Amino acid sequence: MTQVSPARSWVASANGHADFPLQNLPLGVFSVDGGAPRSGVAIGDHVFDLQAALQAGLFDGTAREAVEAMSGGQLNAFFELGRPARVALRERLLALLGEDSAQRELILTQGAKMLPLATDCQMHLPAKINDYTDFYVGIEHAQNVGKLFRPDNPLLPNYKYVPIGYHGRASTIRPSGTEVRRPKGQTLPAGQSEPTFGPCARLDYELELGIWIGKGNALGEPIAIGDAAEHIGGFCLLNDWSARDIQAWEYQPLGPFLSKSFLTSISPWVVTAEALEPFRRPQPARPEGDPQPLPYLLDKRDQDGGAFDIELEVLLLTETMREQNLPAHRLTLSNTRYMYWTVAQMVAHHSVNGCQLQAGDLFGSGTLSGPESGQFGSLLEITEGGKKPIELASGEVRKFLEDGDEIILRARCSREGVASIGFGECRGKILPAR
Ligand code: MN
Repeated sequence: MTQVSPARSWVASANGHADFPLQNLPLGVFSVDGGAPRSGVAIGDHVFDLQAALQAGLFDGTAREAVEAMSGGQLNAFFELGRPARVALRERLLALLGEDSAQRELILTQGAKMLPLATDCQMHLPAKINDYTDFYVGIEHAQNVGKLFRPDNPLLPNYKYVPIGYHGRASTIRPSGTEVRRPKGQTLPAGQSEPTFGPCARLDYELELGIWIGKGNALGEPIAIGDAAEHIGGFCLLNDWSARDIQAWEYQPLGPFLSKSFLTSISPWVVTAEALEPFRRPQPARPEGDPQPLPYLLDKRDQDGGAFDIELEVLLLTETMREQNLPAHRLTLSNTRYMYWTVAQMVAHHSVNGCQLQAGDLFGSGTLSGPESGQFGSLLEITEGGKKPIELASGEVRKFLEDGDEIILRARCSREGVASIGFGECRGKILPAR
C-alpha cells in the first residue's frame, strides 16, 4: 500500500515557503561557525543536520546507509548509491519533518544543534566535482547568438543531431555568494589586427540548469538512453560567467577556454528528481522538418516525461541600486522547457563513446533563453552584443556587467494542486580586476 505523504511540516516556516517546503527536501553541505562541513536538508528557514540526526539514531536501513555515505562533507558516495538510497532518505525525512512526526520533540530538544537557522549556516559545494561539462541545449540561445555572427545561418548543421558541449573547468566552480573577480586576458579591439591584454570589458552571465551526475558508469560502457535518468543525482542553478571579448578572440577553432574558466557559480542545494516529479513534462515536439534524434538518443519514456517545467529568473542589482534601496531589476524570465535535448539525452550522448561519468560530475545545460525579449538568458542576447544598452531605475545603463554589479539566479516550479518549490539563490557580485 502506498503511503500518503504529509502535506505540512511541523517546521512552521516550511509551510508555504517559496523554495523549501516539505515537498522539496534538497540536500546540501553546510557548516556553522567555521566547524567541519556536514550534510543537511533545507526545510523552510532552517537546515536539518543529517549527521546530528544520524547520531541521535533517527535513521535505519537504506536511509541510514544514505546518510552514512554523506559523511566527510561531500555527497559523492551518496550520489553513487543512486535512486533507492535517495528515495529511502526522502521517505524517512517526510516522516521526521512531517506534521505528525513522532520525533518532533526529540529534534526540538536538540534545538539549533539539529535544526540551525539557514542564515547561521555557510553553504559549501555539495560534492567534489571531478569533471564539469557545459552543454549548449538552449536552442533559442544558440539561434540568438548564431544570428549575431551568421544572420542567414544561425544554427550550424550539427545542432539538431548532436547535443553540443565542451569540457569545462571543475576547479573554478564555487557556491552562491562567492565574489567574481573580473578576469584579464587577450582581446582583439574592433578594427585592430593585433590583440591587447587587459581587464575583460564585456563581462556577462549565462542562465543555466546544473545537472549532478548520480551513479557513474565504467570506462567503455555507455549509459543507454533508457537508463540515463537513473544516473542523474539532482539539479541546481548554474551561472556560467562569460568574458565575451576574450571568448570572441580565443574560441576558434577549439571553443571557449579562459573566457569561461575564471569562475562558475552554482546554487548549493541539490534538488532531487523525486522533488521535481510533479513538474515533469513531455519533451516538446520538434518543429516540422527537424530530424528525429538518432536511435541512441531516442526513448519513448524520455520523450513522454523527460523535460521539466522550471521557471528561471535572473535579477541585477548594481551598487547604485543598493545605495538607493531600489529593488533588483529583472533581466530574464525563462524556463527549462526551451531545452532542445533532455537531460537523459545529454547523459546518453556524453557516455556513448565509452567516456566515464562519475558520481558528483556536473553538467551545465547551456544558456536557457526563451524566444521572446525578456526571456534572454545573457546580456549578449539582451543588448545584441552591446548595441542596445538596457536602462535601469537608478538611471544607469548597462551593455555588460560593471564592477559592483550582482547577478541573482532563482528558479521556481509551480503547478495547480501541488506545492510550489524553488531552488534557492545563485548569487555573485563582480569585483574589479586585480
Ligand atoms: Mn555556458
